[in-house]
Amino acid sequence: MIRLAFDHGILLPDMGLWLDPSRGQDFAFISHAHSDHVRRHQRVIVSPGTQRFLQLRSGPHARDLGPAATHVLPFGQRTWFDAGFHATLYPAGHVLGSAQILTERDGARLLYSGDFKLREGPACEPIQVPRADTLVMESTFGRPHYLFPPRAEVVADIIAFCKINLARGRVPVLLGYSLGKGPELLASLAEAGFDFALHEALFSHVQLYQELGVHFPEHVQHTPGTEGGRVLLFPPSVRRSHLRQRVPGAAIAHISGWAVDRGTSQRLGVDAAFPLSDHADYRDLLEYVERVQPREVYTVHGFAAELARDLQRRGWNARALKSGQQLKLL
Ligand SMILES: [Zn+2]
Repeated sequence: MIRLAFDHGILLPDMGLWLDPSRGQDFAFISHAHSDHVRRHQRVIVSPGTQRFLQLRSGPHARDLGPAATHVLPFGQRTWFDAGFHATLYPAGHVLGSAQILTERDGARLLYSGDFKLREGPACEPIQVPRADTLVMESTFGRPHYLFPPRAEVVADIIAFCKINLARGRVPVLLGYSLGKGPELLASLAEAGFDFALHEALFSHVQLYQELGVHFPEHVQHTPGTEGGRVLLFPPSVRRSHLRQRVPGAAIAHISGWAVDRGTSQRLGVDAAFPLSDHADYRDLLEYVERVQPREVYTVHGFAAELARDLQRRGWNARALKSGQQLKLL
């Protein structure tokens, strides 16, 4: 029996282990290095890739990170912890280094997905999905209309956007996270024959990706004046007004699963939006559950209640996690 509680993160009380808590804790698993998952903890379990990205990203935010003791678990290495459980990390396919964690205690298996996706990309380990009795999974795109087109189709649309705008003498600027979609875009556009200039944050992340074995087309770091004839890659955190000022003639495209929603480009103040995501779409959320074959499913983040309800309709024993909830799992 693995008990579970939910309060600003998921707690496995019998192991004293928190899963992606949003507050500092004694002992926590950090599924990947996106900043919404990173807090200062006393002891952490991370994958080797995530450890490297945490180090890279700790620069100006070092005090947010800590950790006194870091257990770096390579994927697939089943490891015993004195708190009385085994843990094994599996690639989650979300961003480079992202992991799911399988905990085993007294013969019961609990899998926590973290952020994940099933589709493969050129800048991330492909996901591996183990079976488990209890599944705790993200549900960011847990509504049926979130269905993403095939990756190759979206990449072709992005290439066409870049070509059209270059031909018009404008500067295509693609917005994607430094960890995840930015590097994936760069690797995906390798065959298109563009010249690239990268925002400094993206540039440093791509350097680390290269150290970790990912291949990219040639690129330079963006400085004013390097735009001519190039495709620019920037993180979405850069303010649009600042970006338009910094890059005259910018044609900006946001790359995000939310592009499935109507009006996304107007809402975000960009010229176009393309639905390439680091997350599973609705179809893949359901497919993931099929692969895990759990006796119980708990959904968390995004459309958790909607996905839990749809899973129930399909015969799964599913419910959504809400903050402050105390649960007992078999
Ligand atoms: Zn993430």
